[in-house]
Amino acid sequence: MNAPAPAPADYLSRLNPEQREAVETLDGPLLVLAGAGTGKTRVLTTRFAHLLKTGKAWPGQVLSVTFTNKAAREMRERVAAIIGQPADGLWLGTFHALCARMLRRHAELVGLTSSFTILDSDDQLRLLKQVMDAAGVDLKRWPAPGLMAVIQRWKDRGIVPGKVTPAEDSDYANNRAHALYAAYQDRLKQLNTADFGDLMLHVVEILKNHPDVLADWHRRFRYILVDEYQDTNLVQYYWLRLLAQGHKNICCVGDDDQSIYSWRGAEIENILRFEKDFENARIVRLEANYRSTKPILGAAAGLIARNTGRLGKTLRPGRHDAEGDKVRVVSLWDSEEEARMVGDRIEQARRAGQNLAEVAILVRAGFQTRSFEERMITLGLPYRVVGGLRFYERAEIRDALAYLRVLAQPADDLAFERIVNTPKRGLGDTTLKAMHDLARSENIPLIAAAWQLLPSMRPKPRQALTELLQGFARWREMLGKDGHVVVAATLLDESGYTDMWKQDKSPEAPGRLDNLKEFVRALGEFENLSGFLDHTALVMENEENATAEKLSMMTLHAAKGLEFDMVFLPGWEEGLFPSQRSMDEGGEKALEEERRLAYVGITRGRKHVIISCAANRRIYGNWTSSIPSRFIDELPPEHVEVEGGARPRAAEQPSMFNAAPMFARRPRVIEAPAWDVKERAPRPDAIKVGQRVFHMKFGNGNVIAVDDDKLDIEFDKAGTKRVLDRFVEKVG
Ligand code: ATP
Ligand code: MG
Repeated sequence: MNAPAPAPADYLSRLNPEQREAVETLDGPLLVLAGAGTGKTRVLTTRFAHLLKTGKAWPGQVLSVTFTNKAAREMRERVAAIIGQPADGLWLGTFHALCARMLRRHAELVGLTSSFTILDSDDQLRLLKQVMDAAGVDLKRWPAPGLMAVIQRWKDRGIVPGKVTPAEDSDYANNRAHALYAAYQDRLKQLNTADFGDLMLHVVEILKNHPDVLADWHRRFRYILVDEYQDTNLVQYYWLRLLAQGHKNICCVGDDDQSIYSWRGAEIENILRFEKDFENARIVRLEANYRSTKPILGAAAGLIARNTGRLGKTLRPGRHDAEGDKVRVVSLWDSEEEARMVGDRIEQARRAGQNLAEVAILVRAGFQTRSFEERMITLGLPYRVVGGLRFYERAEIRDALAYLRVLAQPADDLAFERIVNTPKRGLGDTTLKAMHDLARSENIPLIAAAWQLLPSMRPKPRQALTELLQGFARWREMLGKDGHVVVAATLLDESGYTDMWKQDKSPEAPGRLDNLKEFVRALGEFENLSGFLDHTALVMENEENATAEKLSMMTLHAAKGLEFDMVFLPGWEEGLFPSQRSMDEGGEKALEEERRLAYVGITRGRKHVIISCAANRRIYGNWTSSIPSRFIDELPPEHVEVEGGARPRAAEQPSMFNAAPMFARRPRVIEAPAWDVKERAPRPDAIKVGQRVFHMKFGNGNVIAVDDDKLDIEFDKAGTKRVLDRFVEKVG
């Protein structure tokens, strides 16, 4: 009698045959190349478990590079379950975290000590400026952020000073970039510090130049696991290749269709290179998608098929309950209606038992979260902003708010303190301290102390501070005649605040400027300044309830690797998505990356994907008619259900889903001075006298008069008030 075949370990039985192959092929290089939701990350975490179970490695002998916290957590839990105790000392994390840890051990080999500090981008820029200054570079002509970008690119490509080839060189500052790079690296060493790019670069140099060190790491790491391999850059690739030379047991999983970080130096070629560089590499393809329903997969596959230069993969539904709702495309009148639609659907879903933790709103640009955040607060739906701050907590928004608070209430010392030297007005610590001391001893507001101190100050800061103080007086005067929106815009410009971000060439700066524009847009939704300030105070107080299930908002970039039952993809309009800014910089290639981003977005959804676009959106302070994203037209119609038919305001715009010739599909953003705020797009469903409405602050009431977009409402509890129509909702 034959003994029955041993049952596969529990964790292996949860895999399909191809996944099992990928998990059980432990030795030698292995590349898992497969589409979204096919279980690549599951393969990696299971592989880790399998390595331990089969006694191939101890937990500390596996190096795993993960992209999401979720994957890191899952690996840690699996390992803990297998070894029967919490897993410490795992080499598990992002590239940078792992390299920082390695660098601490060998810092002296690159002229640092193990207590080196890591510079953030602000410090980095400051240091670069010093180096440039010392070298006599005209900083006006050659702004430091330009050099920062050049250096970052070299670091991403693993190029140290002295190794810049003519082909890689830059003509920045009359071909001086290379020399400045060397001087900057020297300075970093003197200060015993490393910037972010150095973490990878130094470690790669150490591994290259010190065979004994490399051999040590080879002895340690028997197995290497890498998630989201399509988004590695060259220096990360070198690092992996060096470490994998020892045992050659490297397993990378990735999907070329989800490569979305080329703007940070990621190189898709790394996937193609794998087979060449790692001899006898095995390639496993996974084709069954276990995440999404058929229509979601169909829509995503149809869209990504428009890209050229793909490796090409098959994706078939693997869930047995894969039928399901079509992907919805909802067109709305404007962005507020869009936020309302999203809020309503989430509310509805929640009432039907949907766990909010399984709902996500994924946006192309950070500023887009604001309207959704406000809507969720109104509806009392808990949310979190993943990988970033809530809108009103972002530094530039807090600064802008502080300016407005001083405008509304000059004695607001906290606010004044925040902005008095932001942007830099040359006020030193002594001056600021003198201001505080005077305010305290005389018992006067800081701003009054500032006026008094002016005569004793040095000419330059005196001039700058005088301008600010006089500015406040002027802006306050303007408030009565020009209105709060115009004043806010003027103030942000005249105080030098917007300029501060315009000068900033760091990658975050454009997003911050977008946030400021959104901020001014938000102001326009309020009758007056104090109404707005009250509102923001309320919003900020909206304490996070740590235990409540929360829905997630994040950028598409941050959503990689994650999944949700219900995914909202708002703002699919030309210019916003695909992003005009990216396309201006990167042309056709950038368009393909935007499309991959759309593919990542759709494939995050398990059951419901709701794409939306607004026909009117305020861009740069003006109402513009927006055109639905070309990506909407590219979705295969059989998997999509279109709802709503809001048309762009201007009659000459192409209608919603007609296939219009390409040139007509360019966004029509009307260039306007940054803060020129015009009237809101008139709503087609205007509110009439007699309508019963709800206002988020005053509650229910009846409309007794309508004056354009202003309504006089007799509220049940709050008496008669005049409010803007966009703050009320029809009831009944
Ligand atoms: P992405 O490309 O988005 O990172 P992925 O390929 O890493 O996706 P996973 O996140 O590992 O995919 O898996 C997607 C979903 O499918 C997860 O919920 C996972 O638990 C589930 N899954 C994976 N393999 C199987 C399987 N064999 N049977 C059932 N469910 C599976
Ligand atoms: Mg994954």
